[in-house]
Amino acid sequence: MKIFINYFLVICLITCLFMTVATANYNQNTFLYGNKEITIIDNSLDYAMMKSIADYIANDNLQDNGNTTYAIGCLLTHDIAQSAALQVDHCVYDTAPRCVETQYIVTYCTRGCGYMEKEVVYEEWIFCCE
Ligand SMILES: [Zn+2]
Ligand SMILES: [Zn+2]
Repeated sequence: MKIFINYFLVICLITCLFMTVATANYNQNTFLYGNKEITIIDNSLDYAMMKSIADYIANDNLQDNGNTTYAIGCLLTHDIAQSAALQVDHCVYDTAPRCVETQYIVTYCTRGCGYMEKEVVYEEWIFCCE
């Protein structure tokens, strides 16, 4: 019985640790731009890459910049990867649902040459802010 209780405690501890890690990652992956909140759903990326993807999504006025400066390794092909990102525009409307959630798939070059394209997966009104 004592062994069983110890086992149970260890499982609780592991669960707590995982939840703490998940929360920490969530904060680190989330970038704020005024009323706009962008979360990169990919824990394998380093901070600089997540930031540049978030910057790219946040700046709606920028065209998809497929023709920007190429890294030397990108003369022929890019090293393409994809990540999902979630955007929430807060308090867009005066009455509930006030906020808009948009999910994107972002295609980018892992060499950091600046090549990025985004594709909307879905967009919906959400009940978020009062
Ligand atoms: Zn490239
Ligand atoms: Zn909101």
